[in-house]
Amino acid sequence: MTNKLIQTTCPYCGVGCGVLAEVQAGGTVTVKGDPAHPANLGRLCSKGAALADTLDLDGRLLYPEIRGERRTWEEALEAVAAGYTRVLREHGPDAVAFYVSGQLLTEDYYVANKLMKGYLGSANIDTNSRLCMASAVAGYKRAFGADSVPCSYADLEQAQLIVLVGSNTAWCHPVLFQRMSQAKKDNPALRVVVIDPRRTTTCDIADWHLAPRSGSDSILFNGLLVYLEQHGYAHSQFIQRCTEGLEAALVSARSSAPSIGQVAQECGLTEAQVRAFYQQFAQTERTLTVFSQGINQSSSGTDKVNGIINCHLYTGRIGRPGMGPFSLTGQPNAMGGREVGGLANQLAAHMEIENADHRALLQAFWQSPVMPQQAGLKAVDMFKAVGEGRIKALWIMGTNPAVSLPDVDRVRAALAQCEFVVLSDCMRAMDSAQYAHVLLPAAAWGEKDGTVTNSERRISRQRVFLPPAGEARPDWWIITQVARRMGHAEAFPYESAADVFREHARLSGAGNDGARNFDISALAGLDNAAYADLAPVQWPVNAACPTGTPRLFADGRFYTPTGRARFIPITPQPPANGVDLAYPLVLNTGRVRDQWHTMTRTGKAARLSAHQPEPYVDLHPRDAASASIADGSLVRVVSRWGEIIVRAQISEQQRVGEVFVPIHWNDQYASKARVGAVVNPVVDPVSGEPEFKHTPVRIVTYSPSWYGFLLSRRRLNMTGAAYWVAAKGDKVWRYEIAGDQSPDDWATHARSLLCNQDNEVGWIEYFDKARHQYRGARLVGERLESCIFIGPGHALPPRDWLAGLFSANALDAQQ
Ligand code: SF4
Repeated sequence: MTNKLIQTTCPYCGVGCGVLAEVQAGGTVTVKGDPAHPANLGRLCSKGAALADTLDLDGRLLYPEIRGERRTWEEALEAVAAGYTRVLREHGPDAVAFYVSGQLLTEDYYVANKLMKGYLGSANIDTNSRLCMASAVAGYKRAFGADSVPCSYADLEQAQLIVLVGSNTAWCHPVLFQRMSQAKKDNPALRVVVIDPRRTTTCDIADWHLAPRSGSDSILFNGLLVYLEQHGYAHSQFIQRCTEGLEAALVSARSSAPSIGQVAQECGLTEAQVRAFYQQFAQTERTLTVFSQGINQSSSGTDKVNGIINCHLYTGRIGRPGMGPFSLTGQPNAMGGREVGGLANQLAAHMEIENADHRALLQAFWQSPVMPQQAGLKAVDMFKAVGEGRIKALWIMGTNPAVSLPDVDRVRAALAQCEFVVLSDCMRAMDSAQYAHVLLPAAAWGEKDGTVTNSERRISRQRVFLPPAGEARPDWWIITQVARRMGHAEAFPYESAADVFREHARLSGAGNDGARNFDISALAGLDNAAYADLAPVQWPVNAACPTGTPRLFADGRFYTPTGRARFIPITPQPPANGVDLAYPLVLNTGRVRDQWHTMTRTGKAARLSAHQPEPYVDLHPRDAASASIADGSLVRVVSRWGEIIVRAQISEQQRVGEVFVPIHWNDQYASKARVGAVVNPVVDPVSGEPEFKHTPVRIVTYSPSWYGFLLSRRRLNMTGAAYWVAAKGDKVWRYEIAGDQSPDDWATHARSLLCNQDNEVGWIEYFDKARHQYRGARLVGERLESCIFIGPGHALPPRDWLAGLFSANALDAQQ
């Protein structure tokens, strides 16, 4: 019998790659890229290729719990319904909230949004997507009147110039980077400009790398607009016919960026660099500006987005092949969340909460008893309200706010004193779970069914190929069950993801006479079989475009009241916390290539942990020298909000004065490396997106009295080391450790670190008192179980050869 290949979609980044999953006899799963999927055409990145390594049950949440005790689904669902009903009755709708996720499927998102806005009567539903792309949403809405990404991935191959701004595409959207690399090989005339304060791997394909000073992007793009005007690159016909507001935008641009010299000075670039970029942009018709979190995660992120869009409107470079302002979303379904109103300031189907007609239309469609009249609390404000006791019931779905939010120790304090916290997730081993009164096991990738929308508006199916682990259930089912128990059974009749999708598609066409861009009404009539077989398609999908729409705005018509795109005047603002003499360095944060978000899934894959096994801070040699920091030593990164301890990596790729720390490490994998504890909680006033790219910090040496590492077949509970980091390897866990106090008896301390309660072991030990070096190995029979190396300095023996010994069942005499 042949095994069946299931076409599904990768659950990690916003590229939305098609995956072929196959379950072999015996249950082993293999994955490979789907050659038929238009996003990746068979490619996968390292994370996607390792998906099968993350499917085991280790760390999974397998059954419902109430206050740490296993309960039935019935008990747990009743508890959630009763908890929300009580808070609503006693404190009203402003006291309840959902914090959801771009990891949810569109169907999950739709049901959550419907319950909160239409039946609980609050708009307090916000999403972790707020942290990555809310500024792009706000920028698009201001310019186009709709949250509409105009471009397609195919534009990457059709462009003559790709400008990558604030995007380490090589690590964060790797398959798109592969497409760009291939496009460059196929078309030697294609030029790539990377604008990023760091020299990242993405620069490998760059013809020019501009490393502007943190936060200076608006000046750079205002200067570009001035240059385009001064050198006669206006697309006058397009501007006249299709736009409004140019003069005000030019006035702002001229006043903040009057000359190339001034731009260069403000951005920390040379005039030659700025001129070369401006000339290239001006002279290349097919220019695609691709931007991501480096633009969005800023206290003026929305302005930065509009600064980019202004230049495209001025040159009429939108709606045609190979050009346009193209936002890359971080998560697999950030776009799906936007479609169903998963943000606190939106309604479903791209309707607006401030628009009375939209509110009435939605309430009539849902036949719902209530509809909030104003926006709810955005992510950072939502957790502030939890901390102040204004929100008393919070349901966290598929995300880990105890790690990922800025000023995260304050978030933790808020969660710890919240009256009622519910968490539905596929993982139990995650930091946020400790704050939940009710834990609900959600189905994981491969166990759930629905749709996601990627960065190019392409809706793709995630399909089931595994049975649910334990008692896990799909999120849409969980929310539906709670809604029914709160008295809304008629409004939540769903028996399948397909039922939800059909309603969502119908709503997108309801009362939509072309005024709303998001329209998938042509999919509203899919029967279950057609939904199961749904091929990837880009919205809008309606009567006018039944097979989807690769590119928007080809007709020059936009979704503003006048139908014209808006130029937005940009007054560049420095980062909110600017320069702080007590914290003289600027902290930038972001992803590493092989981890995803807070590592709850990718941390399980040995091959992914091998890439960067330990959290680190990248800093320039001059900053390292001035703080007497050695490469490879441990350092404290300290801000006004908190501190972390990580390994110093001295790197010429950093700008002087700016440092970089990855976002992934949590308390499951490290003692003190949650960078959210350091990040300032200031947000963009328009989008509410936090400024993850600019926090004033200082770096000081951390000087433990001993350093070490240990390798163990079993995962250990690390309590005897002040500093520790765990990384999964092949048949071995690797721990980097350090301690503040040298024990009197190394042998006893080493055994306690190794959790040695087993008498049937052999010990090999070596202690060099003069050099303060201790080495120990623990054997069961002839098999190495664990080993430990301790020394006074951070330079310790290489780990790889030792780690390789764990592959053997017996050591030979020489080993
Ligand atoms: Fe998954 Fe993104 Fe990698 Fe594609 S590029 S395989 S969607 S993580």
